[in-house]
Amino acid sequence: MTHCEMKTGLPTDAPENKSCFYKALSSKENQNVRMDMYSTVKLLSELVSSTSVGQTIECLSEKFLELGFAVKKLNFNGTENLYACKNLERASELGNKTIMYLGHADVVPLGEGWTFEQGTVVDGAVWGRGTVDMKGSIVCFLDALRLNPDASVAVIISGDEEGSAEFGTPMVIDWLKQSTEFAFPKIDFVLIGEPTSYRYIGDCVKVGGRGSLNVTLKANGIAGHVAYPQFLKNPIYQMIRLVNEITAPCALSKSEYIGLPTDAPENKACVYRELSPQETQNVRWDMYNLEITSFESNSGAVNVVPGMARCRFNIRFGNDVSGADLIVMIDSFTRKHGIQAEYDLACQPFCSLGFEDLRSGSAVMHTLLNSVESVTGKTPQVITGGANSDAKFIYKIAPFAELGLKVDLAHKCDEHVSFEDLTALTCIYDRFIEGLRSELRKNKTQ
Ligand SMILES: [Zn+2]
Repeated sequence: MTHCEMKTGLPTDAPENKSCFYKALSSKENQNVRMDMYSTVKLLSELVSSTSVGQTIECLSEKFLELGFAVKKLNFNGTENLYACKNLERASELGNKTIMYLGHADVVPLGEGWTFEQGTVVDGAVWGRGTVDMKGSIVCFLDALRLNPDASVAVIISGDEEGSAEFGTPMVIDWLKQSTEFAFPKIDFVLIGEPTSYRYIGDCVKVGGRGSLNVTLKANGIAGHVAYPQFLKNPIYQMIRLVNEITAPCALSKSEYIGLPTDAPENKACVYRELSPQETQNVRWDMYNLEITSFESNSGAVNVVPGMARCRFNIRFGNDVSGADLIVMIDSFTRKHGIQAEYDLACQPFCSLGFEDLRSGSAVMHTLLNSVESVTGKTPQVITGGANSDAKFIYKIAPFAELGLKVDLAHKCDEHVSFEDLTALTCIYDRFIEGLRSELRKNKTQ
């Protein structure tokens, strides 16, 4: 008996003006009762319309309380966060694995040009900032929890994942370690609701993050009148030559150049690294991409060559080099061109504990992948690409995976999520939680 099934189509009894959509048959609640999507959509619309992180945290806190969770709102340096947990001390009695869910209540700035008001429900979708990144995932997880009241779950909803991330997840974890009110849970697996899907929900599951290196280059030239080049040294030419060399394919890769990915824009210095036999089995490490984020120089007049040019770029890199290796490689170019460089190593590459034995070990990871497959009919691709999330604070604590809505509209104008996508993600989360419990029951009776 499946626990949650996707059903599409307008229900006959739906209010005329609602793009209603039925989801989920719950075997636990009633095999014959259909749950409609209305409450899910309504909650997401409410969360997306909220004007502050505090308001979102308040609303979520009520929802977790309704589901029988112990809830603690935490304010660190003005950042509102939420910790919620249920059935943790009863985990072994219930025969549960303990899952931690990581989400965030904050969003990137709204920007301009939206077609609809924030939180509008139209055309079978909810529209607004945060629908895919990542309030939609939180709503799906809440729905899955409703279907699995006996699960042992801890939840952290951070208030500044999109910002410095300083006063969110890491502070909640520190607080939890010292708390006299809540014991630090023995976590078996961390599920992170960041967007990871590309073409359909669940096509990709992320188990690692690339390193991130910020570089600032500064070229000093000799300023002067454009009409007398013999007395000038134009720093912009210096910078262009260096940037051309650094962004050439393979320039910063120690491993063999395989080729530009077919879907990469032509001007991107993308390089794929060769996969080890073990990784080829299941995991694709998305390799380098180098993006120039600014190129500045200004003398203030059209007939004056400036004395200085500055260029900033960021490199995302895989686990075949360290940040220190990259810095040495870049230094060899900058020395040649007489250009100064400053480095900020924001993050080293990391991956989930147990990901290396995906084929044989990590039962929880297998349950997750099986849950996805049971909903989508296809084995998900296990990846490490995309943006880094709060996973970097948690990967040493327990195995983790990121699995959420589609990435293509994240941080964009007219961000929205369809009811179908919300339903698919809820089904995957539900089957994962349910799958963990039946897996354990099966093991116990063997
Ligand atoms: Zn996010």
